[in-house]
Amino acid sequence: MSVRVRFAPSPTGFLHIGGLRTALYNYLFARHHGGTFVLRIEDTDQSRYVEDAEADIIRSLEWAGMTIDEGPNTPGEVGPYRQSERKAMYHEYAKQLIENGNAYYAFDSTEEIDVMRERLKASGNPSPKYDSITRQSMKNSLTLPKDEVERRLAAGDEYVVRLKVPRRETVKFEDLIRGIVSFDTSGLDDQVLLKSDGMPTYHLANVVDDHTMKITHVIRGEEWLSSAPKHMLLYQAFGWEAPTMAHLPLIMSPSGGKLSKRKAESEGIPVNTKDYISGNYEPEALINFLAYLGWSPGDDSEIHNMKELCELFTLDRVSKGGAVFNHKKLMWYNEHYIRETSVEDLQPRVKALAEQAGFDTKDDAYLKTVIELLHERVSKVDEFVEMGSFFFEAPKEYDEKALKKWKDDSAAMVKAYQEKVEALSGDDFAAVNLKAALEAVVAEQEVGFGKVMMPVRIATTGQGFGPDLFPALELLGKDEVISRIESALERLS
Ligand code: GLU
Repeated sequence: MSVRVRFAPSPTGFLHIGGLRTALYNYLFARHHGGTFVLRIEDTDQSRYVEDAEADIIRSLEWAGMTIDEGPNTPGEVGPYRQSERKAMYHEYAKQLIENGNAYYAFDSTEEIDVMRERLKASGNPSPKYDSITRQSMKNSLTLPKDEVERRLAAGDEYVVRLKVPRRETVKFEDLIRGIVSFDTSGLDDQVLLKSDGMPTYHLANVVDDHTMKITHVIRGEEWLSSAPKHMLLYQAFGWEAPTMAHLPLIMSPSGGKLSKRKAESEGIPVNTKDYISGNYEPEALINFLAYLGWSPGDDSEIHNMKELCELFTLDRVSKGGAVFNHKKLMWYNEHYIRETSVEDLQPRVKALAEQAGFDTKDDAYLKTVIELLHERVSKVDEFVEMGSFFFEAPKEYDEKALKKWKDDSAAMVKAYQEKVEALSGDDFAAVNLKAALEAVVAEQEVGFGKVMMPVRIATTGQGFGPDLFPALELLGKDEVISRIESALERLS
């Protein structure tokens, strides 16, 4: 039997980073086994439906490098791939359960259910339920005469369909990550399968779809573990074999607790995949990082691209415990993948970002050198523009922190350097000579190297740190360097 897995997000908002990890683990598992990765949109909750969410999900998966084998835009044989388009099917299957005696129509109004609950509470039941006991005294197709049920259905009376949850049964299943999970049905309501608006609940739709889409492994977040016993009961009720379950560990915030939207925001962690896209992260870095958020290959290797991850990934190496989201580690990965990217591949991206920031990037050779000079220093592609802005524009102001290093004698040092640099013309205006000139000033003034180098750096770049100064000055060119020095001497003296 070939492996089929699904990523089944609800289109209720932008794709959360935790959702992206769930998708990734499904994708890696599918590829590892030569199986199929299905995208199913679980859009039955119309009150929470967000128009652009599906497009955001698909865009995010594509950006991250996960090819969807079957989904709304690339249908296979078991579609449609949006639950809202499968409504008729859920009705048929609900009917099947009613016919085989495992579900029933319930006509009770909300008030009637409240009355039942109040009554039971008053008689000492702390958590009253619509269950195997109480269903016998409620208005449903198990208690009403057959012809009245038919009359009500024909008249269009409101109803829900409920699952006949067996009394005091232990539901057991094996989860590939958590081991044996067992659950007592006595804590369960008779689950609603079809709502009064005709929509299926998550439980019914999820089980019907996983079965009819021939899903072999359900890999999803831990927050769905409590739903799994209900799903098992449904598989039993249908007489279907359940897929293998694997519930992934939670993603934790560095300060403890689940990484909620609010927590992530307060800790400066982007929470939606789209923020990583617009934040110019490297998709390979995010993928590599997310793969390790709850899994490891079992040795101390850390860098693996998608292809290698597909080869290495197995569910038995997924941990049970929560995995802490360490943003510094993500930046470490990002830096690594930036270093791995060739200057040629970086160039169009840096050019676009610089132009977006309103800079003129001059000619291609110029920009190429800028990237070469900064390649070992940046950890995100937009830092080429941030750190390298002085290559495109003379400093408008000088970094405050850097100015603390501008001392009383700094202007004199810069002036002395300017005189040496004026003497370099044509090809002589080159990094080696620019360095020698600075060394000459250092020797003449009998000061330390930094005493001259730092103010020259501040005057020409506006910053107290940055790429190798002398090749940077060479690239800027003599006229530009002199003009920046003059302007700095005027403004800083
Ligand atoms: N629609 C659910 C979600 O939004 C799917 C849960 C599952 O994978 O069964 O995550």
